[in-house]
Amino acid sequence: LDALSEPMQLGGCQTYTTCSIGIAIFPRDGESGETLIKNADTAMYAAKQEGKNRYRFFSEEMNANVIRRLQLETGLRRALQNDEFFLCYQPQVDLLTGRLAGVETLLRWRDPQGGVMLPGTFIPLAEETGLILSIDKWVLRHAFHQARAWHDWGFSDLHVAINISGCQFRQPHFIEQIDGLLSETGADPRKLELELTESLLMNHTPETINVLTQLKNKGFRLTIDDFGTGYSSLSYLKNLPIDRLKIDQSFVQSLPDDLTGAAIIQAIIVMARTLRLDVVAEGVETREQMEFLRIHQCQKMQGYCFSHPKTLEELTPLLENGEGLWRNITVANI
Ligand code: C2E
Ligand code: CA
Ligand code: CA
Repeated sequence: LDALSEPMQLGGCQTYTTCSIGIAIFPRDGESGETLIKNADTAMYAAKQEGKNRYRFFSEEMNANVIRRLQLETGLRRALQNDEFFLCYQPQVDLLTGRLAGVETLLRWRDPQGGVMLPGTFIPLAEETGLILSIDKWVLRHAFHQARAWHDWGFSDLHVAINISGCQFRQPHFIEQIDGLLSETGADPRKLELELTESLLMNHTPETINVLTQLKNKGFRLTIDDFGTGYSSLSYLKNLPIDRLKIDQSFVQSLPDDLTGAAIIQAIIVMARTLRLDVVAEGVETREQMEFLRIHQCQKMQGYCFSHPKTLEELTPLLENGEGLWRNITVANI
């Protein structure tokens, strides 16, 4: 590691390099050259994953990890082929009008072996392997289709929010893909909301602003998800064509006891108002949290207090109940 950290001269430029080393020991880690090299290779990938520029000794645990990841990756590829993904929809309630303002689509995977899997268990690996692009496209296509279907059924005010991953947003043909899916499904972008994370928007390069502006011009509503967790400079907000801030659930769940969380929420609400941005709170679980938000004039909310994410079959009766809907989806707490 020390030897390779010395700078090298390449075509007149000084170049620096680092290396990651995997080590397998005979006979403990293998009795043939082939096995030793394979295991040293596995250890090298572990060294890379832990941040590179280091060495790692091979362990059996690494093999188990590699196998688990491989099985998950194979499972995800199969899931795309066999249509094992499905969408859940979590209602967003507007307490001012007492109506259901929209739904957020949340991805689920019905794994024949493991049951229903939440995105936290497979999205990180999907991002690493690039499978996220196909998965996100699947989500967009199905969410657009569903939005169109609801619109045709007469639920014309219902907004459908979709989570967009960084990989998806940054891929060069994102706008073309969106255009293709809009014409394929006939969905109305004015009824669609794209949720982007703060970290994705933080380095607001001209390219990022360009893509956001194109989406905005098509009519999409743009929301910053998990707002308040990205430690970003607030001045970036006024340069971005966004409509909405979604207060992260960690702040909401610290209510009402945690004074810092409460202060941060109040500051976000006031700032949003000054910048003429809409604001919605997520992860609202209790009546106290709901009351706090309402008193501080955040009237759009989402969380278990109103409804867990629902399958299409579970959501349809709620939609058909029409006016005063949120009262029906309100559970015991209220
Ligand atoms: P997120 O966008 O912040 O979604 C909110 C998460 O909070 C969801 O978890 C939701 O089920 C959960 N939640 C809602 N209300 C409450 C509440 O009152 N209390 C608590 N404790 N949790 C609540 P889920 O469905 O497991 O999704 C996790 C994350 O996975 C999402 O976080 C989002 O970042 C990502 N994700 C979900 N669907 C998609 C998708 O279609 N595409 C992409 N790229 N990412 C997705
Ligand atoms: Ca979200
Ligand atoms: Ca969120």
